[in-house]
Amino acid sequence: MSVITPHAATEEEILLVHSTDYIRKVRAEIAAGRQTLSTGDTELSRDSLTAALAAAGTVVSAVDAVITGSTPTAFCAVRPPGHHASANRGMGFCIFNNIAIGARYAAKRHRVNRILIADWDVHHGNGTQEVFWSDGSVLFFDVHQHPWYPGTGSAAEQGEGKARGLIVNNPFPAGSGRSEILKAFRERLVPAAASFKPELVLISAGFDSRAGDPLGQFTLTDQDFAELTDLLLVIAREHAGGRLISVLEGGYAIDGLARAVSAHLGRLAG
Ligand SMILES: [Zn+2]
Repeated sequence: MSVITPHAATEEEILLVHSTDYIRKVRAEIAAGRQTLSTGDTELSRDSLTAALAAAGTVVSAVDAVITGSTPTAFCAVRPPGHHASANRGMGFCIFNNIAIGARYAAKRHRVNRILIADWDVHHGNGTQEVFWSDGSVLFFDVHQHPWYPGTGSAAEQGEGKARGLIVNNPFPAGSGRSEILKAFRERLVPAAASFKPELVLISAGFDSRAGDPLGQFTLTDQDFAELTDLLLVIAREHAGGRLISVLEGGYAIDGLARAVSAHLGRLAG
């Protein structure tokens, strides 16, 4: 296992997903000392811009490392998370959509045409869904608690145009865990990936779907995260030359987060 030194994302990289107006707003509100982002429930501090640019830049650096072959897999230990942020709106603790920026960067810089984003955070990745809603280059597969924050992610939301059928939502009620979620990955993601044939696999790895998280009511265990990781590694090896990047999203029980990440990394690096 090696550690890559990330860079702060450039304006050009953030613009792959976000609008000029939104970036200007984020900069202005942080500079003005606001304590929350006006577009959504996201706490701010004077160092939030530095953290948000580092988070997005870390995923960009991981894409470079994995695509150029310096490592087959990477885990981005970043905060703030990103999957709730859309082009014009940060929300749900997310300022910039780190994984969406990474996907767009892989497409633009490295001509990766088909990317799988699998999201096992307990909350629906509404921002990622919105960014790739009619894109066609991304298969977005999301398991999440429903009804729950942010309210989106019904099975009927499937994308439009070139992306019709490439948004695959798997809403499950509170209390769901291994039997529902591993089954969805095995029975829905594996065939969807076989037909889409991703050239790169990205994971929105939120660990608030772990049992005991204060912001979620799923019951996944560390062993379940290890098995989900194995399943995505198999997809990556089968279709994407083993190229897989995992990006931290939620996870709010600090001890539980550490244990789940450890189980995940054990398989990624194994
Ligand atoms: Zn979450």
